[in-house]
Amino acid sequence: MQVFTKANELQIFLKEQLLQNKSVGFVPTMGALHAGHGSLVTRAKSENDLVVVSVFVNPTQFNNSDDLNKYPRSIGKDSLFLERLGCDIAFIPEVEEIYTTNYELPEISLGFLDETMEGFHRPGHFKGVVQVVYRLFQIVLPTRAYFGLKDFQQVAVIRFMSEKFGLPVQIIACPTLRESDGLAMSSRNMRLNEQERKQSIHISNTLLYAVELSKTYSPAETKAKAIELFNQGDLELEYLEIVNPITLESLDDEWVPNSIACIVAYLGGVRLIDNMELNPTSNS
Ligand code: AMP
Repeated sequence: MQVFTKANELQIFLKEQLLQNKSVGFVPTMGALHAGHGSLVTRAKSENDLVVVSVFVNPTQFNNSDDLNKYPRSIGKDSLFLERLGCDIAFIPEVEEIYTTNYELPEISLGFLDETMEGFHRPGHFKGVVQVVYRLFQIVLPTRAYFGLKDFQQVAVIRFMSEKFGLPVQIIACPTLRESDGLAMSSRNMRLNEQERKQSIHISNTLLYAVELSKTYSPAETKAKAIELFNQGDLELEYLEIVNPITLESLDDEWVPNSIACIVAYLGGVRLIDNMELNPTSNS
């Protein structure tokens, strides 16, 4: 595996590969890698000639400096992890390398995508995500880019951005990998102590309960009952929404295909996000 820290050196290398008509699969990450990231790398490997993984904790997408400072970092372990997965190129830049003085933030209005759920609760977050992903796409010029559905809204934002700018990249959404007890894998899970780790399964259990409820109840009823169950636990709920997977608008009386329940909760100061597709069998 080759490791690059300089954008221009990576660009020169990748240009040669593109001239040989090689397809490039790209997986942007913030490091502290786990099997969830690994599944994206493996998928990228199976579909492309070359795989590039970036490891960059993007400061502009953190609306909370405490969260940024406490974000786990493990570059040595990450490099080994990527090498073992057969990643071809790791791109590990410093902040100055990404945000050069002449870098211009792409102008884009995300509309409702930035007003609901993550957009509402983390002001500026998606602006930062668009900023970094656009810049990374400029550097890597990927054929395909891989994102996890754990960050469901992020996938919607990236798709929107790519279409808006007509970027020649295929966006591939990959399923959420979970621990054996159901907790969605996340770099932030490392910050949970033993007791919190046990409590954390209340998040996925609530989503599973919502899946069951959706077979009988309307979206609004499902949401109310799922929140009621969630509040019996010790976690602090930020939001639980049942939304249209395309528009992200909240559902009320009617189900739509692939309706999705999205949840964010705090546990010991750690913010955890998850979602699950619902399975309504009727429009009751
Ligand atoms: P992050 O390092 O958290 O920015 O994540 C990098 C990419 O990995 C994003 O596209 C995430 O959605 C994805 N990802 C994170 N956790 C998981 C997971 N448990 N399963 C699948 N993909 C994931």
